[in-house]
Amino acid sequence: MDSVLIIGQGIAGSVLSLSLHIAGIPFVVVDDGHKTSSSIVAAGLYNAMAYKRGNLAWRAHELFDGCETFYQKWEKEFKVKFLHRDGLHRRIHDAEEYNNWTARMADKNLAPFIDKLVSSDLFSDSFDLPQGLCKVRGGWLDVPLFLETTKDFLTERASYLEAKIDLSKLESREGKWNWNGRLFSKVILCTGYRSAYDDRFFSGLPFSLAKGHTLILKVPGAELDEVINANVFVIPLGDDLYRIGSTFSWVNLNEEVEEKEVEKLEKEFQRLCSLPYEIIEKMAGVRPTVQDQKPLIGESKENRGVWHFGGFGSRAVLYCPVLAESFIERLEKRSPEDTETSVDRKRL
Ligand SMILES: Cc1cc2nc3c(=O)[nH]c(=O)nc-3n(C[C@H](O)[C@H](O)[C@H](O)COP(=O)(O)OP(=O)(O)OC[C@H]3O[C@@H](n4cnc5c(N)ncnc54)[C@H](O)[C@@H]3O)c2cc1C
Repeated sequence: MDSVLIIGQGIAGSVLSLSLHIAGIPFVVVDDGHKTSSSIVAAGLYNAMAYKRGNLAWRAHELFDGCETFYQKWEKEFKVKFLHRDGLHRRIHDAEEYNNWTARMADKNLAPFIDKLVSSDLFSDSFDLPQGLCKVRGGWLDVPLFLETTKDFLTERASYLEAKIDLSKLESREGKWNWNGRLFSKVILCTGYRSAYDDRFFSGLPFSLAKGHTLILKVPGAELDEVINANVFVIPLGDDLYRIGSTFSWVNLNEEVEEKEVEKLEKEFQRLCSLPYEIIEKMAGVRPTVQDQKPLIGESKENRGVWHFGGFGSRAVLYCPVLAESFIERLEKRSPEDTETSVDRKRL
């Protein structure tokens, strides 16, 4: 059987490769060692609610259960725990927000994704949580661990290579794509935000990239076991370590850490938690965000056999598993194009 070349081993390339493995389709994944990876910076949070407005995320009913089932299946296979399904505690800022959450719990569309209202008594006094919290279903994926375990699995099967692919050097020959003397029936770009700079296959995709920072803090005495999501999120990593994030900015779209963004995060953390802390690590990455917030999935019209699987914005953990399955059906020509996620969408 012809083989598929996947370029990029972030969340998208990893989930897709595991799905191709299940489908019995041979493939090779090539990554440049995460040089421009958003995934290694990602907090890995997933839930079905939109962050600010509290309505449902795009296709939440279809995507949520499939997402958890996928990562749990691979946890069993790898015998490694990377999915933390303990729920997310959304800080309630004022009485109006409290009323909104109560109304959402009575809404039959939203109720399946909301667990309960939680008293602040369950958290250390060092956290400023005067109106309590609302626990929603979801959790977080330990993305670096998921990527590393997937890479080991692929390497053992000779399905992973570390290299940077120069897209301009991919050649089409008798309906196949040649990279380094190897022929592939299909090439799939899972190159994250770098796709925004690709003029060879998918020029003009409607990206609206957003840079983000996260920090790892050591906060002795916080005694937090579950995620709090306020103006910053706080994810417990064990040993008094917490991941804090994240910022949004639309300039300097690269992996360089900017001190003014770090200060923003620190300020928000200090508003939430009065305990002293030490910064252990600072990270920055670029989210492959799209103008209308929907992924970009499909085949190049001009270069048949070259596909794009990306544009997952801030929701790669939730989106990738179910969308990878439907993507493979399209790859095999068993289902038509999904216009909502089409790569032919134009810039607004
Ligand atoms: C601060 C921050 C917080 C975030 N928090 C969350 C969150 O809580 N939940 C969530 O779901 N998402 C979150 N995201 C978004 C998430 O990180 C992205 O949607 C996701 O990582 C995109 O995955 P990807 O595989 O498409 O791209 P990437 O992770 O960027 O992977 C692409 C890979 O391809 C490689 N590559 C690129 N070009 C080439 C080439 N020519 N040859 C070889 N290799 C190449 C890159 O080095 C990289 O390893 C966050 C992002 C940021 C920046």
